[in-house]
Amino acid sequence: MFKAILIEKDEAGDRAALREIDEAQLPEGDVTVAVAYSTLNYKDGLAITGKGPVVRRFPMVPGIDIAGTVRESRHPAYRPGDQVVLNGWGVGETHWGGLAQVARLKGDWLVPLPEGFTPRQAMAIGTAGYTAMLCVMALERHGISPDKGEVLVTGAAGGVGSTAVALLSGLGYTVAAVSGRPEEAAYLRGLGAAEILDRAAFSEPGKPLARERWAGAVDVVGSHTLANVCAATQYRGVVTACGLAQGMDLPASVAPFILRGVSLIGIDSVMCPRPERLEAWSRLVRDLDPAKLDTMAHEIGLSEAVATAGQLMAGRVRGRVIVDVNR
Ligand code: NAP
Repeated sequence: MFKAILIEKDEAGDRAALREIDEAQLPEGDVTVAVAYSTLNYKDGLAITGKGPVVRRFPMVPGIDIAGTVRESRHPAYRPGDQVVLNGWGVGETHWGGLAQVARLKGDWLVPLPEGFTPRQAMAIGTAGYTAMLCVMALERHGISPDKGEVLVTGAAGGVGSTAVALLSGLGYTVAAVSGRPEEAAYLRGLGAAEILDRAAFSEPGKPLARERWAGAVDVVGSHTLANVCAATQYRGVVTACGLAQGMDLPASVAPFILRGVSLIGIDSVMCPRPERLEAWSRLVRDLDPAKLDTMAHEIGLSEAVATAGQLMAGRVRGRVIVDVNR
């Protein structure tokens, strides 16, 4: 038997609770992992609270991130005792995930624990931090360097946002952070933000074009915020879009794209090809200040995951949440 969060569906809706599960119920997979830590991302919050259609099969163990040790393996790349990390691939959506003491997975989905990180640090980063790195890599790939001008990060006090602020400032960019939480200004400055902007200035319908300001942006918010960010991006600037915290809609005009050559780059972490994942993780080892990572993450036990998911959805969680599945 092992402990897990289990989401079940009945006439009353989705219900998530801590349960004891028989290992015979584990799904198919060629690697069994003793999970050490998981995390809570926005998507886990949607799954656990039932606020978004993330879970595609019931009953489901949520948790899109895993760090742990291989217990059994029929996969040629992994042996018992190997330390591994998993992000995405539909785990926690269509395949039982990491908010559990044991997980059975496809070995092809795993990556070795990046050298330089403990399992706990890897989960302090989690999908949110790895996605922030994918955004930074996309900005670089499209020619944005610190000398091009200021970069903007929206949803800055959240998981993706906090990691993006820390990464970009560490790489020498001047970072403006958009947040709805003025009380987190000192925290964001500690991560390296040069300026804090009120999210209310971004969240309402705006003009098709505004004063050119941002060389690049990491947007986790979508909707009017993303439209306004594109409208204020410099000639040939680059905006990376990875989230929908305000909304899935994009009420924008083509003006920034056809008059200023702005690029809007979509970022997906879930099905991201393995070579790019490995690159992102090695860049995180190199470019993320571990002291900043400490300030942006706090730990909870598995029994607190359901309540904390509700707080995450209410926008009351700062930075990243690490889940110790064994307490
Ligand atoms: P998170 O920790 O909950 O952070 C989201 C942040 O967005 C909040 O902290 C808040 O920042 C801001 N926010 C929340 N509601 C808002 C609203 N109504 N209007 C404007 N801003 C709002 O979540 P996360 O794990 O960082 O994920 C952020 C987003 O990225 C989510 O939409 C998630 O689904 C997406 N994501 C996508 C991928 C991908 O592969 N594409 C991967 C990871 C995450 P402030 O309090 O600072 O305003």
